[in-house]
Amino acid sequence: MSETILIVEDETAIREMTGFALAKAGFQVLEAADAAQAERVMAEATPDLILLDWMLPGTSGLDFTRRLRRDRRTRDLPVIMLTARGEEEDKIRSLETGADDYVTKPFSTRELIARIRAVLRRMGHAHADGEHFEAAGLVLDVPGHRVTADGTEVRLGPTEFRLLRFFMSHPERVFSRAQILDHVWGADSYVEERTVDVHIRRLRKALAPHGRDGHVQTVRGAGYRFSHQV
Ligand code: CA
Repeated sequence: MSETILIVEDETAIREMTGFALAKAGFQVLEAADAAQAERVMAEATPDLILLDWMLPGTSGLDFTRRLRRDRRTRDLPVIMLTARGEEEDKIRSLETGADDYVTKPFSTRELIARIRAVLRRMGHAHADGEHFEAAGLVLDVPGHRVTADGTEVRLGPTEFRLLRFFMSHPERVFSRAQILDHVWGADSYVEERTVDVHIRRLRKALAPHGRDGHVQTVRGAGYRFSHQV
């Protein structure tokens, strides 16, 4: 599953060039010209990382990062700040505000892609090779259809297995019930949203004897998250 990058940049040429390079590198790309548009895009789909221009019309990149960090749905979403400024002080300011990295324009797309991969790796995406996922002491083996907690097998139904696989491949991110339905049951299924709650309960019940149920977290008013931290 390829990662989705949201580019928030008002300069069309830079946005399109960057989007083209990222798509070529195998990422899914979403684009927005300002913070308001970015919020509309994010209401539809949660990106894995945001490339955020510092100098945007309306809300600045710094203010938008602050806003993302205040919202529990987006507080752990990685942000790489793009800026024309190269001063050390600006770099420190953007990192203090909560950006995960900082790239100065003009940048090479190769460097940018390397930085994106590094940030995603730090966020835990590298623990997943598409077949095995490791997080919070759990190991999920996709071909073997097995989950172990500290080496002991966790017994899961097929839906709980798919649900846990989805969560473990996207740690620390909050998903709404509708998004979970789309990813785990498929966008064309006619399952009610409360079905998600039922399977979350079953998943927690299966993880509880292993002391791992606390990693499947309810985020009130938003949905669910798999977190390394309890
Ligand atoms: Ca700009």
